[in-house]
Amino acid sequence: MWTQWTRMISEHVAVCGVPLDLDDVNKHMGMSVVQNWTCPKCNQKLKGKNCKWIKTEIVEDGRKWSRPQPELNVRIAKGGHENGINADKVIGLVEGSLGIKMPDKRNYRHTQRKVWDAQEKLFHIRQEENLAKHVADAKQLPEYQPLEFEYNGETHTTNPSTVIMDGGGKKRAFNHRINGDETGFIVTSGVNQRPIALVHSQVSILCQFIFFINYI
Ligand SMILES: [Zn+2]
Repeated sequence: MWTQWTRMISEHVAVCGVPLDLDDVNKHMGMSVVQNWTCPKCNQKLKGKNCKWIKTEIVEDGRKWSRPQPELNVRIAKGGHENGINADKVIGLVEGSLGIKMPDKRNYRHTQRKVWDAQEKLFHIRQEENLAKHVADAKQLPEYQPLEFEYNGETHTTNPSTVIMDGGGKKRAFNHRINGDETGFIVTSGVNQRPIALVHSQVSILCQFIFFINYI
């Protein structure tokens, strides 16, 4: 992006032979900075951007269509989510310590929600794919035997295969009864080692304290 911009303006200046005028700098779009330049000789307007604008397929709740947004805003929301850094800490680091302007908290949360939706969607697609591959691979094993069983007078067939289960949480779990306010549980295929199910939960507990003050 930077190289492209430098090349474009240096080529323009080389042709027109005059320095460009900076009209304004737009810093109202989160981390995206747009500089508007004009060539005083040919009057051409040139726009310098610090990042690409992208349009994701995810449509935000309450909106009819997806709108383009600065790639930097999406990257920072994605990075924060993947590394377990919450909005306040990201804003504290980028804006407070580095002095780089961030989208306001409300907009940051909108972007964050879109990242969550995208990851959730991808997770379900992968889960279906992995499950189908697990069943297909299990059927190729020499010891594979479909299991027949009767239910409500009808005969059904199921595909027995090996899976590995593990999980954990804040509370000690016995016999895989994993529960509590922060837990995770994963089932991995014993045939091709792909994850085939993931269950997690996190409950935020809001504590409210009420103070009664008696004036006597
Ligand atoms: Zn020019």
